[in-house]
Amino acid sequence: MLTLKPIVTRLAAAAAIMLAAGSAHAADSGAATSASIGAAKATSCDAKDGGLGVDRIVEIDTSTGPLYGALSRYEREKSFLAPKEVVLTFDDGPMPWITRSILDTLDRFCTKATFFSVGRMAVAYPQMVRDVLARGHTLGGHTWSHPLNLKRLKGDKAIDQIERGFAALALTSGGRVSPFFRFPGLSDNPTMLEALQKRGIATFTVDVVSDDSFIASPSRLAKVTVDRVVARNGGIVLFHDIKAATAKALPVILTELRQRGFKVVHMRSEAMLKPLPELVAELQPLIAKKDPPRGGDVKRAAMLPFYGAVGPERLPPQGGLAAQGPATTEDRITVEVLRPEARDRLAPRKKSGSSGAAAVTANAGDLATPPPTRRERKAAKSWSTKVSRERLNRTLVD
Ligand SMILES: [Zn+2]
Repeated sequence: MLTLKPIVTRLAAAAAIMLAAGSAHAADSGAATSASIGAAKATSCDAKDGGLGVDRIVEIDTSTGPLYGALSRYEREKSFLAPKEVVLTFDDGPMPWITRSILDTLDRFCTKATFFSVGRMAVAYPQMVRDVLARGHTLGGHTWSHPLNLKRLKGDKAIDQIERGFAALALTSGGRVSPFFRFPGLSDNPTMLEALQKRGIATFTVDVVSDDSFIASPSRLAKVTVDRVVARNGGIVLFHDIKAATAKALPVILTELRQRGFKVVHMRSEAMLKPLPELVAELQPLIAKKDPPRGGDVKRAAMLPFYGAVGPERLPPQGGLAAQGPATTEDRITVEVLRPEARDRLAPRKKSGSSGAAAVTANAGDLATPPPTRRERKAAKSWSTKVSRERLNRTLVD
């Protein structure tokens, strides 16, 4: 039985943490593949039970366009996760009435996640994008309008989806989107992967699917997710921050993971993504119309044409940190800098001998999920219809 222990804390939003101090410089060794270990003053919180926290930070140099996640047909990087470690990821948002609840839960558990957000959603809810970052999470791209057939789109259109999504996120976030990408529906192909690799963007698939696209019951979602994480002994976990069930199940899931000894790894990029200037120029007026900077946001707002000659944008030593999530003590978290080798990532995956093969096999079992019930399919359909009609389509036209 999954139960949620009450966690007593609401953290001071204004408290600055030093999540990344020193990490950017820890990477300056120039080593092609070795990991550098840095240290950072880390998030901690005043949750009476200690929260779930962040066990360590992995900072990725994406310049070689690495590919992470077990669920892939292509040669990919070795997982950076140890047994019993998870990375929390949320796709498809931001959707304020869901994303906000998820952010609150993550704060309560003093932990961090990565949000693969959709460009049009970001344009519709730019402040939410900034809230995600302000609470110390990582922002990655998930296309402009989430086409489910991305791999079938003609090359230029597919690439435009990816780049336009990133440009929207860069503009709404003030240039703080990481060069992290996840294909909608994991619908990839060699052409796009090659383009991402050349562009120095890391691609992420998943290790563990929560199936929150189908499961409408929060208690069932929590059980299925926890069972899968346990079965695989951790991994990159996929959620969606447009699903009410996800928001409701998350406290139970995090409680269960903590009780079972799982640790959260927070991933972030060493450098920020530099969007294409032509798309910035195109989107800037649209976004400016919907998102005039106000108050304290003025200085940080993305309206400035700061994507000039210098790039990529780098986090300052404590960049963005003043705004990053709550902390009340100064723990130290290990920051491991990953510099994946440049290699042919489009080669078919090795059948054996690679460290990932076993993981994929194991994962295949995880993904053999019980089919969604009729009710769940119906709920998922009505939800997505509602989202697409009432929310997505109005983002730029009004
Ligand atoms: Zn998606």
